[in-house]
Amino acid sequence: MTNQPGDHQPGDHQPRTDWPHTAGTASGTRAESFHARPAHADVPIPGEPEGSARVPTAEQAGKGVINLVHLYPREMSIYGDLGNTRCLAARIRRHGYSPVVHQHHPGGEFPAEPHLIVGGGGQDSGQVRVEVDLEHIADRLRDLAAQGTPMLMICGMYQLFGNAFITVEGKRLPGLGILDVTTQGNAKRMIGPVALQTDFGDVVGYENHSGSTTLGAGQAPFGTVRSGFGNNGTDRTEGARTNNVIGSYLHGPILPANPALADALIGFAAEKATGRPFEPVSQDDAVADQARLRQVRRLAG
Ligand code: GLN
Repeated sequence: MTNQPGDHQPGDHQPRTDWPHTAGTASGTRAESFHARPAHADVPIPGEPEGSARVPTAEQAGKGVINLVHLYPREMSIYGDLGNTRCLAARIRRHGYSPVVHQHHPGGEFPAEPHLIVGGGGQDSGQVRVEVDLEHIADRLRDLAAQGTPMLMICGMYQLFGNAFITVEGKRLPGLGILDVTTQGNAKRMIGPVALQTDFGDVVGYENHSGSTTLGAGQAPFGTVRSGFGNNGTDRTEGARTNNVIGSYLHGPILPANPALADALIGFAAEKATGRPFEPVSQDDAVADQARLRQVRRLAG
């Protein structure tokens, strides 16, 4: 069975008109094999409670419901990037809001009212598998980006949010053009730990990409490289940022190690969702903060 849109088997996948009432985490037991799942079934998010895709009742909603969309968790979530979704859902709860997690798969119906959208890294082959669907939802994503919807796109999805990714074999994958960046695949990969300076403070993570990314004139980076390769190993830029859309090469996953970035995204989303300023609850991030500071000291002195 392939993941091509339109290639549905009877009973395999129904358009998700019922979203967000559909259970979004493991639909079976943990022991159920990943490979036994239908091509469009949600992937388990370790640690996320069952039913985190259900809309809470008004009494359960707390300060408000935040619809969190993960683009292509099956094809584009390597190096633990699913952890970003888990981190956001957990922190949204701790801030007193209710997350509703929606996994968007190729051929699935894109949700009506997303407040926060994330996407992860993938092999070049995974990027090829999501291209057709990405084209279908391109206008929605461009509109949402223009309206200030926060988005975090890592590595392979960052490349596809740019103008184009040209693989090392010379295949050109057109991007959404939400970020003015262009990426060229190379034989040599850029791999290793990274420390950045960003608008959200020090950010640490781990990169592994063959793509070398160039920012267009006037495109702001996400951060400045203190240690590591970043976009291309030469200009000390890392990632890109336009309004509330952030692209970055950093895995780790990036958000648990950098909670200020997670909370900035949640803050933008909470304002979108409720029309009111974000009402954060103070969090104990001592362990993450200590780990990050030690890594910055180790990498960048
Ligand atoms: N295939 C892309 C590259 O190697 C993206 C890699 C990734 O997402 N980790 O540049």
